[in-house]
Amino acid sequence: MKVVETAADLKKLRDKLPGPVGFVPTMGYLHEGHLVLVRQAKSENASVAVSIFVNPTQFGPHEDFRQYPRDPKRDLALLEVEGTDVVFMPPVEEIYHPGFNSWVEVGRLARRLEGASRPGHFRGVATVVARLFDLVKPDRAYFGQKDAQQLLVIKKMAADLDMKLEVVAVPTVREPDGLAMSSRNTYLNPEERKQAAVLYQALTLAQELYNDGEKDAGAIRRQMTALIQKQPLADIDYISVAHAETLEELNEVKPPALVSMAVRIGKTRLIDNVVVG
Ligand code: AMP
Repeated sequence: MKVVETAADLKKLRDKLPGPVGFVPTMGYLHEGHLVLVRQAKSENASVAVSIFVNPTQFGPHEDFRQYPRDPKRDLALLEVEGTDVVFMPPVEEIYHPGFNSWVEVGRLARRLEGASRPGHFRGVATVVARLFDLVKPDRAYFGQKDAQQLLVIKKMAADLDMKLEVVAVPTVREPDGLAMSSRNTYLNPEERKQAAVLYQALTLAQELYNDGEKDAGAIRRQMTALIQKQPLADIDYISVAHAETLEELNEVKPPALVSMAVRIGKTRLIDNVVVG
């Protein structure tokens, strides 16, 4: 496994990598959710590249960029076990040159849900992913369904800008109680961690209501809200039942619908989703 920090070193390695090349962009502090992406990339490509970069431009001014957990040594050990070929760990200046001021802005899709709650978030995500795609030149790039809107935004960017790669979606990896794995779960204290299971319980409730014939999206949102509000540490940011491709909110649930949410448990903001139908 080769670890590189500069675009110039990456380019030298990339030119010699057997193709096709699968790429997994991450912000590090790796868990099983990330490793499943790496394994799928490994099984579908001759070479696998992983990036570890906590991207400052996708964090809002009052968000957790500084506290975001980092453990590069452990990350590298985990990636080595998976047979990763190249790890790209650039310093910020390697991605954003001094005076950098060009951005990739994905329209409508990026303004809903997470985009509405976190202004500028997807501009930061799309820009860094475009930079990374340009540097790594992957044939396939792997993204988790856990961040469903991010996946849609990246797919839209890749299609609109004719990027010559395939964007591959990978199902969400969960803890035994259903909580989606996330580097941010480490912020949760034991009581918060217990209450965090309510996100997946609410998503399961939505799926069950739909299976039992409930097609009224408002009724589903209301029942999810009531369930989550039973947990004293939970504070709902949004609950959405939307078209799975356009992300437009639905009145009547028609598959494929994306049921998604952002909920604060204590100070930690968690997101999760399921596709119903
Ligand atoms: P992050 O390091 O949080 O930026 O995540 C890097 C990639 O891993 C993104 O494509 C995420 O959607 C994906 N990912 C994170 N958590 C999970 C999970 N629990 N299951 C599947 N994919 C995940």
